Amino acid sequence: MPFKALGLSEPLLKAIADQQYQTPYPIQEKAIPAILQGRDILGHAKTGSGKTASFVLPILEWFQDKGPAENRSIRVLVLAPTRELAIQIGAVFQAFGEKLPRKVKTLAVYGGVSINPQMIGLQNVEILVATPGRLIDLLSRRALTIADTDILVLDEADKMLNMGFADEMKDILFLLPKKKQSILFSATLGEALEAIHKSLLRDPLKITI
Ligand code: AMP
Repeated sequence: MPFKALGLSEPLLKAIADQQYQTPYPIQEKAIPAILQGRDILGHAKTGSGKTASFVLPILEWFQDKGPAENRSIRVLVLAPTRELAIQIGAVFQAFGEKLPRKVKTLAVYGGVSINPQMIGLQNVEILVATPGRLIDLLSRRALTIADTDILVLDEADKMLNMGFADEMKDILFLLPKKKQSILFSATLGEALEAIHKSLLRDPLKITI
């Protein structure tokens, strides 16, 4: 199946070609059309499966067609367990998004580095990729609001729980609007995760790769 069959528009298809992606990976074939339709996703997938592009592409598409016309606040929140993964996801948003007609400012924030440049960088950001601890820190300093978030992605959710971020995740979920699209990826689907996905996801498309 070509990328063209997944419901992505010409500017996105051009960006995909620029990244030298020829055909979608299985997870992308399943997740991209469903995310474009606004469905919640429960993805059982590991790094290397192509899961990043499976949410980055439809999210960038959403900004082109249905998203806000102007940048006012954070509309997409991606939570990731580690600084490395947050940086990597931010770079994928940047790479696919840089030539699109509707520009979207993306920022990755994570711990272990000074918070001040991140606070300054938050201006006009619409896609925020964050590790849970640093996001809580920024929220407690009132550096941002996540109350306008339309789309939430929890990437490597099992790893976030294993790293001890359960309380932070709970606090963050509480601050998000009830009405939103949620996408959860996890390499394993254990009991702790079940509680989160049961309270968060509505009739999710389950994808196992
Ligand atoms: P991920 O699982 O998201 O970390 O992606 C693993 C690797 O596969 C990354 O280097 C991506 O750039 C690459 N990749 C993802 N989707 C495709 C695709 N459809 N065609 C070629 N490479 C891809």
